Amino acid sequence: MEGTEREGLLEVARLMALSARTAPKARGRDHLRIRVLTGEEKEKLAEKMEEMAGEYEFFRRDARSVREAGAVLLVGLVGEPLDLNCGACGSSCEGLRKGGKKEGRGCAGPICVVDALNLGIALGSAAKTASLLNVDNRMMFSAGVAARKAGLAEADVVVALPLSASGKSPFFDRAPP
Ligand code: SF4
Repeated sequence: MEGTEREGLLEVARLMALSARTAPKARGRDHLRIRVLTGEEKEKLAEKMEEMAGEYEFFRRDARSVREAGAVLLVGLVGEPLDLNCGACGSSCEGLRKGGKKEGRGCAGPICVVDALNLGIALGSAAKTASLLNVDNRMMFSAGVAARKAGLAEADVVVALPLSASGKSPFFDRAPP
C-alpha cells in the first residue's frame, strides 16, 4: 500500500473508532473497548488465527485477510446489565449480576442483550463510516475471538473489522475454506 493510502486508512480507522464511540447507547451506558491494530500486533492476531485454524478451518482464510489488511479495528464489549429488567437474557438484571460470567469458546457470558445491541449498533456505525470514506472492510467474529485469545483485547465479546485500501477488496470473493 502506498504511503498516502496508508495514512488515509489509519485516519479512517480512527474515525471509525469515533463513530463506534458516539453511536447511541441504551441508557447512555458505554461499555465498549475500542482499539486499532497495525504492524506487529496485527501480525500477532493473524498468527493466533492460524493457530486456532486446527479447530475452526475458516480462521485460516480469515487470517490471510487480516494479513492483507492495512489495519484492524477491534470493537469489544464488557457487558453489564442495563437495569431494564426486560427478561431478554432469560434472567433478571440482578440474576445476571449474581450469576457472574463464564468463559465460553470465544466469548465470556452471559451478557445483557440490550448491552449486546449497543455493540451491534456501534459496529454498524463504524462500518458505515468506512463505507462513506471508501475503505473496504468486513466484520469478523473469528478475528475478534482470536484477538481475545491473543490478549489483544480485554472484553467479553470482540468483533474485528480489518480495513483495506487497494484496487480489489481482499475481503470478498474469497475461496471457501
Ligand atoms: S437483558 Fe437481562 S440484564 Fe439486560 S436489561 Fe434485560 S433483564 Fe437486565
